[in-house]
Amino acid sequence: MWPGCAARIRPGHLGQARAHDTGHLGAVDGALCDNGAVHNYRDEGIVLSGHKLGEADRIVTVLTRSHGLVRAVAKGVRRTKSRFGSRLEPFMLIDVQCHVGRNLDIVTQVELIEPFARGIGADYDAYSAASVMAETASRITEAEPVSRAQFLLLVAAIRSLCRGEHPPRLALDAYLLRAMSVAGWAPSLADCAQCGAPGPHRAFSAALGGAVCSGCRPSGAALPDTDALDHLAALLTGDWARAEASDLHDQMDGSKLVSDWVSWHLERNIRSLRVLERT
Ligand SMILES: [Zn+2]
Repeated sequence: MWPGCAARIRPGHLGQARAHDTGHLGAVDGALCDNGAVHNYRDEGIVLSGHKLGEADRIVTVLTRSHGLVRAVAKGVRRTKSRFGSRLEPFMLIDVQCHVGRNLDIVTQVELIEPFARGIGADYDAYSAASVMAETASRITEAEPVSRAQFLLLVAAIRSLCRGEHPPRLALDAYLLRAMSVAGWAPSLADCAQCGAPGPHRAFSAALGGAVCSGCRPSGAALPDTDALDHLAALLTGDWARAEASDLHDQMDGSKLVSDWVSWHLERNIRSLRVLERT
């Protein structure tokens, strides 16, 4: 659970505020009441996670195309007779209709678009990669305005995992690099992130923005082989032939750098949000 999440996404948690904040026109797909507030909306979304609520309900977190990150209550879905329980499993791509509630929205209808969960659930590595993708997408999008690019990126990555197009670990690293870049945190993988000296450089510092030259290198910077940075550049640009041909050692080093990069930025970002909320 992400306490305070709804407040950050939707100040005041009013349908009207959401329609305004996201630049989304509620009239396009929502039912408007007299004061202009949206009571219902419909959107395409990918289920990121679910948590039990009471005896039979579940709270689902869905990254939607036009409404950003949505958390909503699906009533009665844990009963065996439920019409749409299985459609709300993580990684399902759905067409969802919600009623705007006082605290959490209520899911009123769900149609399945693509059942990614079925393909991913059969492969442990794919499932693990998809889980990290979903968690990262949730962390990134709870902190930024509605991003259709993040939605499309996640759907493409989960679809690719489901089809087994690339090794799951590489698919995950490629997704993480791209999601961070779309969010405005692209690492420098060649030139020095600090002084701009042309690369390749040996050291990598998440705090300084990526590759760093020997003159700018802070103590404690990672020292991967330069081939690891080249491998990450191939993942970021979608050069799969080059990425999959990388030495396994470089792939492992690259994964560690990506993980450090994501953790450093998301933790700092969330900390700064908490400071903002207190002031
Ligand atoms: Zn430098």
